[in-house]
Amino acid sequence: MAAQLLKGTAYITGAASGIGKATAYSLARHGIQNLTITDISPSSLSSTASELQSAFPHLSIHSVVVDVGDAKAVDDSVSQTVDKFGRIDVGVNVAGIGGVGLATHELEEKDWGKVVDINLNGVWRAMRAQVRVMLEQENLGVRTGRGAIINVASMYGIVGCPKSVKASPYAASKHAVIGLTKSDALQYASQGIRINAISPGYVRTPLVLEALAKGYMDNEVEKTPMGRMAEAEEIGDSIVYLASPLASFMCGGVLVVDGGYTAN
Ligand code: NAD
Repeated sequence: MAAQLLKGTAYITGAASGIGKATAYSLARHGIQNLTITDISPSSLSSTASELQSAFPHLSIHSVVVDVGDAKAVDDSVSQTVDKFGRIDVGVNVAGIGGVGLATHELEEKDWGKVVDINLNGVWRAMRAQVRVMLEQENLGVRTGRGAIINVASMYGIVGCPKSVKASPYAASKHAVIGLTKSDALQYASQGIRINAISPGYVRTPLVLEALAKGYMDNEVEKTPMGRMAEAEEIGDSIVYLASPLASFMCGGVLVVDGGYTAN
């Protein structure tokens, strides 16, 4: 049997659906022992926790309803994780929402503000709480350090959203997540905390399926050179790589997992 890539404790936001849920499964498959899963949706979170527990009977799961728009809720869930499991080895900041399908001249300020508050400020709130814990915990050596943080950006953090997608606040928030990731990677690298971003292309999740159903993304998926969407598990497994000692020299990087979209 292959050696496990991961051990210890992980904390995930947006863990009740799509990429976040798949990441919980990938982390558990690759050896994580304790997992805090958080999400704004109580019902989806509770069913995700039960499904995970049945699939991984030895996994210790702490599940907390958290809106990443609420700094206190984020901080409390991180503190509970430390009280319960002792440390946080891996933070994965996934929670996010799509664009609203309107061009800038059609957008209200509140719509802009909501996307930026969840997708950018929410990542910052969760990362701030995770870093505060990691700075205080033991450094486990060159390949593991004090911890690893992975922020979920998007290929639209690298290129602009095409006209048909009409999601400039989304692209702006994801470009900013990459800037935040790089700056904080520099800030904390010497203290043994590795911070990286991942930029997925189109992934088969409710977020994309809803946008497709509303006709926001006509002909978009076909532009992916590999000719398909990713399955959420493919992104979860890439996140495991970033979290693991296999990526011990990756710091401030952006792992592009987009089927070739941005290479075009
Ligand atoms: P999803 O809608 O399936 O899952 C998002 C999860 O985040 C849901 O469980 C939702 O309840 C939760 N969430 C929403 N607002 C929240 C909040 N305020 N606080 C806490 N949780 C909240 O979507 P997904 O496709 O899995 O997207 C996850 C992340 O991946 C997002 O940041 C998204 O921008 C990014 N992403 C997705 C794709 C894609 O094609 N699906 C591509 C690139 C990046």
